[in-house]
This record gives sequence, C-alpha cells and structure tokens, in this order.
Amino acid sequence: MDQIKIGKFIAERRKEKGLTQMQLAQELGITDRAVSKWENGRALPDASLMLPLCEHLGISVTELLCGEVVTMENANQALEKQILEIVREKEQRDKQMLRIEWVLGILSCIILFVPIFIAAYAPVEDWLRIVLIFSGFIPGIIGLCFAMKIEQVAGYYECKECGHKYVPTYKAMYMAPHMGRTRHMKCPACGKKSWQKKVVSKD
Ligand SMILES: [Zn+2]
Repeated sequence: MDQIKIGKFIAERRKEKGLTQMQLAQELGITDRAVSKWENGRALPDASLMLPLCEHLGISVTELLCGEVVTMENANQALEKQILEIVREKEQRDKQMLRIEWVLGILSCIILFVPIFIAAYAPVEDWLRIVLIFSGFIPGIIGLCFAMKIEQVAGYYECKECGHKYVPTYKAMYMAPHMGRTRHMKCPACGKKSWQKKVVSKD
C-alpha cells in the first residue's frame, strides 16, 4: 500500500470537507498528531478507525486504501489488469511445464528402451535379459505417464476444424494417436476429429 498517496488523499478529502486536522481528530476521538502522521504518510489509520474516518471523509474503505476515488471505470481497468497478469503468469508456467515434459519424455524413453536393446543384442544370460527389460520398464512407464499428465494440463489443444481451444481428459489424450504433441482427437465443441496442435495461449 502506498502510504504517501493515502496520506495525501486523506488531507485532500479533509480540506474538501472544510475540516482542520484538529477538528477531524476531535470527531474521531484521537490527537491531531495522529491525523498529521497519516497525512504525512508516516502511518496508516488503525483498522478500528478506518470506518469512522471514511464516514467523515465521505469515501469508501477501498478508496482509502487505494488513495484515490474509485469509479466504475477505473475499477474495471484495475480488474482487467489483474486478470491479464494472471493469464500471462499461467502462460509462462505452461511453457516451463512443457519444457519439463520434453526432458522427462526423452529420459523416460532412454530408461525404457536402452535396457531392452542391451537385452536384445548383448551376449548375456537369459535371466539377465529379463531383469534388464523389467528394470527399465516400470520407471520408464511412470516417467511417461507423468510427462503425459503435464501435456494434458499445460496449455490447450486447438481444434483444426473450428479453432476451439480446450483441455482434454487424460483418457482422451492417452488414447489418441500422436506425432510429438500433435494429437488426433475429437473436438468437444464441433465433434469433428482432427490433428490438434498444442498451444499455450488461449487467445
Ligand atoms: Zn472443433
């Protein structure tokens, strides 16, 4: 909170009401030094004094804390700014998640397939072949499941037919044939099947 801005706003509203610091202090049952401290931006009014102070100044508590008059117009602007910031943060996070998915996917494939290749081509005992195959199988599959979960929830899939962007169910994604992150799925909006690309931004 901007104490200086709030202080200036209190002083401005007090003068508009034709009150001195002393008069305002008396009406609130406090010292004029306290009022002076607020107006210089050195302290904020106690929570218990905020409501009576706002009543005397003819402002809302929101306006007091913003240090300015809140109209419908700038209330909407403030809200829009907040929403845009949240959307931008989500996009950044999704991009990061998709990078993690890529690394996790490759690592899982190495863990899964390298022991199988070794088992297939290396001159080792049969029991060791079986151990090798299973040693990579479980961690590899778990890694791939995690990677797919990330792919499901990070960003959106875009329908090629109608442009609808959505988050599919894990099952729909899991069952879909894919080339990299592009998956052949049914769009929940238009019902058509197409190769859908992964996108991070919704607009
Ligand atoms: Zn569609």
